[in-house]
Amino acid sequence: MKTIYLDNNATTSVAPEVFEAMKPFLTELWGNPSSMHTFGGQVARHIERAREQVADLLGAENPSEIIFTSCGTESNNTAFHSALATARDKHKVITTSVEHPAVLNPAKQLAVQGREVAFIPVDGMGRLDLSEIERAIDGRTALVSVMWANNETGVVFPVERIAEMCEERGVPFHVDAVQAAGKIPIDLKKAPITFLSISGHKLHAPKGVGVLYVRRGTPFSPFIVGGHQEHSRRGGTENVASIVAIGKACEMAISRMDEERVKVTKLRDRLEKGILDIIPRSFIHGDTQHRLPNTTNIGFEAVEGEAILLLMNEYGICASSGSACTSGSLDPSHVMIAMGIPFTRAHGSIRFSLSRYSTDEEIDFVLKVLPGIIQRLRELSPVS
Ligand code: PLP
Repeated sequence: MKTIYLDNNATTSVAPEVFEAMKPFLTELWGNPSSMHTFGGQVARHIERAREQVADLLGAENPSEIIFTSCGTESNNTAFHSALATARDKHKVITTSVEHPAVLNPAKQLAVQGREVAFIPVDGMGRLDLSEIERAIDGRTALVSVMWANNETGVVFPVERIAEMCEERGVPFHVDAVQAAGKIPIDLKKAPITFLSISGHKLHAPKGVGVLYVRRGTPFSPFIVGGHQEHSRRGGTENVASIVAIGKACEMAISRMDEERVKVTKLRDRLEKGILDIIPRSFIHGDTQHRLPNTTNIGFEAVEGEAILLLMNEYGICASSGSACTSGSLDPSHVMIAMGIPFTRAHGSIRFSLSRYSTDEEIDFVLKVLPGIIQRLRELSPVS
């Protein structure tokens, strides 16, 4: 059975070009970049090349602002740790109620430790009211953290405006750009963002590599303390092959983004319109005006999301209900709850997330089988 992979916000396939680029660092070029001998030391310049490629995708002023980490989660934790460790007199963190657990849980941990944490709510379309962030910022604020794009709904937040608001008040601003990087333009020359996180496996590089951008001049305290790697900003022998891979993935994203955005948006819109036209009582969740090109989150009234996923799985179709990291629990996702989506619809919400490799044939196939799946489940449902 062919796999129809429409779960790219959970993880993406490694691009063949990325795999080719990383291969030599798993075979002949396996030395330690910190070694004094040429065999190891020659590897270091490939890390520096990757740093430049990542800096280019993000529009960073200088490659030295790029720190390689093990994942988006580590990057987020590092930003939180560093902001609080370097501003000892400030104890407050402001974030949103719809962040990924990789921000929500560090924030909740700080609250348990006695820090003040404000979770800014969203409206029914998943949008933020910027005046609420403005009101929450005060002299005790050590960090504001807002995601660029939501992993469940694809809703894009106006982080450039929030960055300016934070800069005016002298407050560091962290952006979790894990879902935005490679899908929509990011230009750190235009937006005064202090910290920004990305993750390799969301942009066709492998799992286990991430990036934290730290604007030049920002006081910094490492989260992983050890050797002098990454200019003593992140201890641990570098994951060279994966660092090279994320660099290559960023380079590919730069050259293909415009074309891919058009292609992926067209496919996503066809899928979405097809579903809404054919399947009664189906609804889009989130602001469709400000949304990633690849994501749609659709609620099916009176059906369980997990049941839809299981039946789609029988046809080889991969999607998600809620966030991949929280599936396995039957509670409606915290994002759906924060948006005030009615329980019956939140429960039946499915996220389809496409990629550059998605095809018209795949969309046709989903549109062919999904109406029958929903109908079958509604016939079985006591509340249909
Ligand atoms: N932030 C967002 C918005 C995400 O979607 C994810 C993963 O789903 C992460 C952070 C965590 O990234 P990683 O899996 O690299 O730790």
